Amino acid sequence: MRILIVEDEVRLADTLQDLLEIEGYTADTRHDGESGLDEALTGIYDVILLDVMLPRLDGFSVLRRLREAGSAVPVLMLTARSEVSDKVQGLDQGADYYLTKPFEPRELLACVRALARRQPELRNTDMLEFGDLKLEKSAFTLSRGERSVRLSRKEFDMMELLMLNRNLVLTKEKLLLKIWGYESDAEDNNVEVYISFLRKKLDHLHSQVKIKTIRMVGYCLEDSASPEK
Ligand code: CA
Repeated sequence: MRILIVEDEVRLADTLQDLLEIEGYTADTRHDGESGLDEALTGIYDVILLDVMLPRLDGFSVLRRLREAGSAVPVLMLTARSEVSDKVQGLDQGADYYLTKPFEPRELLACVRALARRQPELRNTDMLEFGDLKLEKSAFTLSRGERSVRLSRKEFDMMELLMLNRNLVLTKEKLLLKIWGYESDAEDNNVEVYISFLRKKLDHLHSQVKIKTIRMVGYCLEDSASPEK
């Protein structure tokens, strides 16, 4: 799960990033409203932590523009005690939750978990199924019937994205951003390499599911099961 922190107090932003990363989330930081909005609009984040008082563009404007652009990403607003009266404004504009500074780390983590649970695609992620395949998060395994293989972290993330976006074509760019992150210097090539790893594992499982390449666009899963039974 990938979280964006938009907070101009750099030390607080770094602390939040550390806290989330210790819990196993991937977190990126931005320190002003404009670049925060640009980042949020990439669509690669599952939750956004958004400060209210920000340089260049305040948190409410970021939130409004994000919603206007059609994004439904859960947003947790971070607000100073003196700004509590602003809560109504934020809720009107589509914030999902408020946290008043200063807050306890466990309070923040509880909010993040609650927001993540509200996203249907992030619910029940312990077990995903597609065609004859089962993907199990707790064990990092992909299985078909009795056969199963262990996946590396990146293979798992990629398979999960493909399964969650079944019937959609995932672009290389989106896979790259979701799995390697925005600031990584990974290239399209990495995506191809991991797709080929996954294809070998699908072959090993004798799965009817194939990863189809859509030329110049990206990849999607295809269930080529023939009605033979
Ligand atoms: Ca601030």
